[in-house]
Amino acid sequence: MKTKLEQLKTEFLELVEKVTDRQNLERLQTEFLGRKGKLNEVMKDMVELAVEERKLVGKLANEVKEAIEQAFHFQEQKMSQSEVMGQAEREWIDITQPGSFSSEGHLHPVTQAIGEITDIFSHIGFTAVRVPEIDWDYYAFESLNMPKDHPARDDWETFFVDAPEGSGEKEGKLLLTPHTSNSQVRTMETQKPPIRMINIGRCYRRQIDISHVPMFHQFEGLMIDKGVSVTHLKGVLDYFAQTYFGSNRRTRLRPHHFRFTEPSFEVDITCEVCGGNDDGTCRLCKAGWLELGGAGMVHPNVIKAGGLDPDVYTGFAFGWGVERTLMMREGIKIDDIRILYKNDLRFVNQF
Ligand SMILES: [Zn+2]
Repeated sequence: MKTKLEQLKTEFLELVEKVTDRQNLERLQTEFLGRKGKLNEVMKDMVELAVEERKLVGKLANEVKEAIEQAFHFQEQKMSQSEVMGQAEREWIDITQPGSFSSEGHLHPVTQAIGEITDIFSHIGFTAVRVPEIDWDYYAFESLNMPKDHPARDDWETFFVDAPEGSGEKEGKLLLTPHTSNSQVRTMETQKPPIRMINIGRCYRRQIDISHVPMFHQFEGLMIDKGVSVTHLKGVLDYFAQTYFGSNRRTRLRPHHFRFTEPSFEVDITCEVCGGNDDGTCRLCKAGWLELGGAGMVHPNVIKAGGLDPDVYTGFAFGWGVERTLMMREGIKIDDIRILYKNDLRFVNQF
């Protein structure tokens, strides 16, 4: 029996060292010291011993029991200690470390430009309007003083929608708007002068090459009131150029020809790279000026189409490409405008 008791102790001491969790530790203790445990199993044979022997074995049994209990508590303590340590390890924070930030995306540069341009014009009372991007020929061409044989009305310039023609006086063929100027008559029809509107929309043309995309954006401004003159136009263009491009930029008007304005102008702005002093070496411009877009005094026929009397009201309109304006501000010439719509993050993330 003595040997058995010694073996029991050795066995427990060996096993207890290998236990790594509380559940198994308690199971092990019950296996040895429980009511039906190994120790009690050995002690069953005590009844057969002589009194003297029984005393000795009883003492030894107590010692074994104590040793087992001690080893059990020791192991238990080791476990709680490592648990606390583990928790501390897990919850440890280095308060001197810089914070972690989740990476945040940003709007596409063209969307950003649209927001900025709308904002700039809103400060001088131009209200943003939305007009259909699929519109009747009447609003896109006819009402803008464009003759039936104008090249822009040809299939090669404009996407016509394969749908029945509208029979109404202000309808005709359905098309994807090739410019934002369909907003002119539509706004005059729905608002009373004084009118100051800005329309930024998508335009569609049958062109795709390094300097054209079939879908692009234009912004269109229109002001109609009594006594509006070219001076007002120049003032608004200068305000925009200096706010959007920088206070040192200047604009100039060059005579041009458009069907829906009279007189018509091309608007130029001084080049950012050479500051308007190109000596023939500037990589961005020709002779110090960059072409911004078209503008002019609204043609009397267009004012009439809008339901207003051209003898009473005058106005100006301007419109040009958002993509182009954005690139001009950044002072870059992109080799291929299509990169704006290729979702190439290496390009887009530079804005
Ligand atoms: Zn230049």
